[in-house]
Amino acid sequence: MRSVSDHQTVVAALFGEPATVTVPVADAHGSVLVTDVVAPIGLPGFDNSAMDGYAVRSDEISTATSESPIRLPVAEDIPAGRTDELTLAPGTAHRIMTGSPVPGGADAIVPVEQTDGGVSIVQIRASVPAGKHIRAAGSDIEAGQTAMRAGTRLGAPQIGLLAALGITDVAVASRLRVVVLSTGSELVTPGTPLQHGQIYESNGPMLTAAATEAGAEARHLHYVTDDVAAFRARLDEISDEADLIITSGGVSAGAFEVVKDALAQSDDVQFVKVAMQPGMPQGCGHYPSPRGRRVPIVTLPGNPVSSLVSFEIFIRPPLRAAMGLPPHREQTTARLRSDVRSPAGKRQFLRGELRRTDDPDGILEVDPIGPPASHHLRYLARADALIDIAADVDTVPAGTPVRVLVL
Ligand code: AMP
Ligand code: MG
Repeated sequence: MRSVSDHQTVVAALFGEPATVTVPVADAHGSVLVTDVVAPIGLPGFDNSAMDGYAVRSDEISTATSESPIRLPVAEDIPAGRTDELTLAPGTAHRIMTGSPVPGGADAIVPVEQTDGGVSIVQIRASVPAGKHIRAAGSDIEAGQTAMRAGTRLGAPQIGLLAALGITDVAVASRLRVVVLSTGSELVTPGTPLQHGQIYESNGPMLTAAATEAGAEARHLHYVTDDVAAFRARLDEISDEADLIITSGGVSAGAFEVVKDALAQSDDVQFVKVAMQPGMPQGCGHYPSPRGRRVPIVTLPGNPVSSLVSFEIFIRPPLRAAMGLPPHREQTTARLRSDVRSPAGKRQFLRGELRRTDDPDGILEVDPIGPPASHHLRYLARADALIDIAADVDTVPAGTPVRVLVL
């Protein structure tokens, strides 16, 4: 049997270096910048008002109080969007709205709350120091400064900054197109009544969600039955549009193992037993597409827990790396809250629930939940960690610190 880490190396070798594409900012959400972004303009682009109020020359209102306000004629209204360049004549005020350009000659804004709100003449009831309530041009970022570094993942705030800088297109690491194809003659799509012996197709939606969560552009294909010709035909249809194919089912030791039967003859895909539980039967390699591309393919076992755990252990880390993303899952140590038995010679990944403790060192505790059997989806759906038990261990008593992967 192949060790988990050896199989991780083999699967990781299927992935190439991140490729670069230039895409519109709106399509870059979730992608990673491959070059620094230099600000083409400053932000703010011009001195503008931080308040609704009146633009003034601060020395003209330095004695203003509520008992003896200073009266100034209002020479202009500056609502948002005025594009002409104004100058404040001495002895006047301009009524100005938040974000509007400060007129030349003005050096402070008096908030409307410190005035009578006058339209033709305003009474100013408080002094303001020079510079007050003015957002200076370039105070957020100056033109020519680095706005974001290569390697930044573009979430909502980053998209906001790009748009504010007026940037339309960015160079990002390409997101891989992942297709997920389940196999099984027992499968039925949710929404259709089940006959005896049938089950709902759950690996396809689950693995598609997992690949999407990992940052890929994932597509869920309709499952195929355990029919070699149908399976191959489906792969031929989609492989030219895929950067990674993930299949589920049909790789174990029984009869009618469609994935194995379809792919084992070629040298392109290898099927192995990996010393782990869940997830022993594994396969990976390349699928030769009709147009001659060698598309990486990972064939996961059909048991739902095996399928998702295998995705986490073998696919997720190199898939993210190939899109320029960090591994993202935290690996830490937690103390077991109950005894664990583990099959000798197999590395076991148990579902776990983490608990914070009052421990001053901040060590976590973890409850192993559910049996090791790989069809218990309920516990998988409850788990927030995978407990990683080494292959050479068969019992681990409660209290022992163990490695956990935080989901
Ligand atoms: P297999 O790997 O095809 O031998 O399937 C192993 C187990 O996983 C069987 O109990 C299957 O019914 C189940 N299984 C296979 N594929 C799926 C799927 N897409 N969704 C849910 N269960 C599945
Ligand atoms: Mg099957």
